[in-house]
Amino acid sequence: MKPVTRALIVGLVLLLAGCGLVRQPSMDTEGADSFEDDIRTARTLAEEFWKQQFSQLGQTYRPIADFIPYSGRSGPSCGGEESVPNNAFYCPLGHFIAFDKQWMESLWNEMGDGSVYVIIPHEFGHAVQAQLETRFELNVQAELQADCYAGGTLSALVGSGVLQAQDGDENELLLSLAAAGDPTDDWFNPAAHGTAEQRQASFVIGYRDGVGGC
Ligand SMILES: [Zn+2]
Repeated sequence: MKPVTRALIVGLVLLLAGCGLVRQPSMDTEGADSFEDDIRTARTLAEEFWKQQFSQLGQTYRPIADFIPYSGRSGPSCGGEESVPNNAFYCPLGHFIAFDKQWMESLWNEMGDGSVYVIIPHEFGHAVQAQLETRFELNVQAELQADCYAGGTLSALVGSGVLQAQDGDENELLLSLAAAGDPTDDWFNPAAHGTAEQRQASFVIGYRDGVGGC
């Protein structure tokens, strides 16, 4: 279980929000679909992407067992650990992804649909790590790889035309990210997710080089 910190989400969402990430074809003049559509689409596209990736390696992707929206503290527990509000997580024990729906929807409202297309692929990144049985010495390494996987997933979807990214002021967005990260840079803290710069850099590597570069 690797909870996503708010810092990461804010940071990466800023990055993507400025790219005007929208699904094609747009359902309305703003290019925005409903929140539910975006959530469903992000899941479907992420799984479709990984299915193809595994297949290219002669392996079979195992779809997640469940995808669970919850409110507040009513979410599923994972290995005896309770769900918390304002979070999204992958649970390796049940091979499922769960997320606080109100929280996710508020990010979607405030920052645009890019938020959903970052958070969901990040959690699928953890699901893939579990399937590949990737071992990490430090939690932060798993988090940074999941960020990288999210970047690789998104660039593949944009590249295939399923998602559309418009030009944004990337430098400005990258600067805003610097303020959004974990204030600590403690790589030995098992709960650490990495600083904004580290997470942003990992995401960008994935976006530029694809998941093979992660
Ligand atoms: Zn994570």
